[in-house]
Amino acid sequence: MGRPTYDMELIANKKLADNTLGLTFRVTEPPTFEAGQFISILFEHNGEELKRSYSIASSPEQLKSEGVLEIAIGLVKEGKASECFSNAKVGNTFQMSGPFGMLTLPEQHPKRLIFVGTGTGVAPYRAMLPQLEQLGRQGQAIHILMGARQRGDLFYTDDFQKLAESSDSIFFNACLSREQNVNTTANEYSGYVQYRLEEISLTPGEDLIYLCGNPFMIDDCVKQLIERGFGPREIKREKYTFSR
Ligand SMILES: Cc1cc2nc3c(=O)[nH]c(=O)nc-3n(C[C@H](O)[C@H](O)[C@H](O)COP(=O)(O)OP(=O)(O)OC[C@H]3O[C@@H](n4cnc5c(N)ncnc54)[C@H](O)[C@@H]3O)c2cc1C
Repeated sequence: MGRPTYDMELIANKKLADNTLGLTFRVTEPPTFEAGQFISILFEHNGEELKRSYSIASSPEQLKSEGVLEIAIGLVKEGKASECFSNAKVGNTFQMSGPFGMLTLPEQHPKRLIFVGTGTGVAPYRAMLPQLEQLGRQGQAIHILMGARQRGDLFYTDDFQKLAESSDSIFFNACLSREQNVNTTANEYSGYVQYRLEEISLTPGEDLIYLCGNPFMIDDCVKQLIERGFGPREIKREKYTFSR
């Protein structure tokens, strides 16, 4: 027997940033999920049935109360899903399966929670916003590092800035690898997320690190973390590998 599938209808398709779409779906009889998980969406491309995975970018509470789920898609040149979703119109229907994945919040909280995401890799952290706000109120130290090439590639930053403003123990940084002039007062940094990760004095045994997005960034960060003495249980990761 195959995995259960759920019907979903596109209710909004908007541009979040250069090359990034934000899609909102209404899901019929939705499953429950934990913030940080992903779904697989089935779609048709030139008569071929295909599926691609996407992190859920909205909270479980929103799905439960409104039946609504959001995803962010980074458009890829000549990508099949990229083409399908770029042309998708409100009212189009799809099917999804899931939820899948273990990039969820821990039961025991470490001294610091560090969330690293490149591009749409911040989507799972956006789904965690209500829980992170609550943790911040309890004084939990949280760092969110978003990596992008330039300012025009950023999105969801208002949500993360607002979260950071809700608690003295929450910090948000946008790390821009190809931007000449960064605005440090708006928490922008120059360079890759890996560099910023080095600057925040990581401590094995105290920090739990989440990595999500570009597989090369993840491999690079894992190498850096292992060299610093982190064990595999202190690193949670979700690689956005391409379909073959
Ligand atoms: C667990 C998981 C979660 C994911 N979550 C998200 C998410 O939240 N948002 C999101 O945008 N994507 C996410 N992805 C990636 C997503 O599933 C697709 O791979 C992506 O949307 C590209 O699909 P496509 O059909 O448009 O491109 P394809 O038709 O699969 O690929 C077209 C061409 O582009 C190349 N390519 C594909 N992806 C990339 C890339 N990222 N960078 C450079 N070249 C590429 C391929 O090698 C191929 O040559 C996730 C992947 C996994 C495994």
